[in-house]
Amino acid sequence: MTKVKQRRSGSSRATAGRRKGTKARSKTQSGKRKKRAAGKPKRPVVQETPRSVRVRMLDPQAKCGSGTSVERLFRVDEKMKGAVVTHLVFFDRHGLYCEHGRACPAVDDVRRAHRNLDWTR
Ligand SMILES: [Zn+2]
Repeated sequence: MTKVKQRRSGSSRATAGRRKGTKARSKTQSGKRKKRAAGKPKRPVVQETPRSVRVRMLDPQAKCGSGTSVERLFRVDEKMKGAVVTHLVFFDRHGLYCEHGRACPAVDDVRRAHRNLDWTR
């Protein structure tokens, strides 16, 4: 007589041990971290200078008197960053110059706006 048969009940251990390690990884990292703002351009590519200039020709006689040597007179309204700067640009025997000096950018603005005129002295 042997009692070997009773040992069979131990086989159920195998299935119990399997449960370990099958823990589903609930910590799934959401891959939606990199959000791309599609259709929204960062910045306009063309960087226009925020400077608008309006050149107007004035009558030098009316402004400087009938005996003035000023041949041409221009008023330049320069708008930059919301601020408006007014230039008076003269053209006489000395050439073209702004009230702020010859290096003032308004001088070039007048020259550019009136390419057809002869600016040589
Ligand atoms: Zn000026």
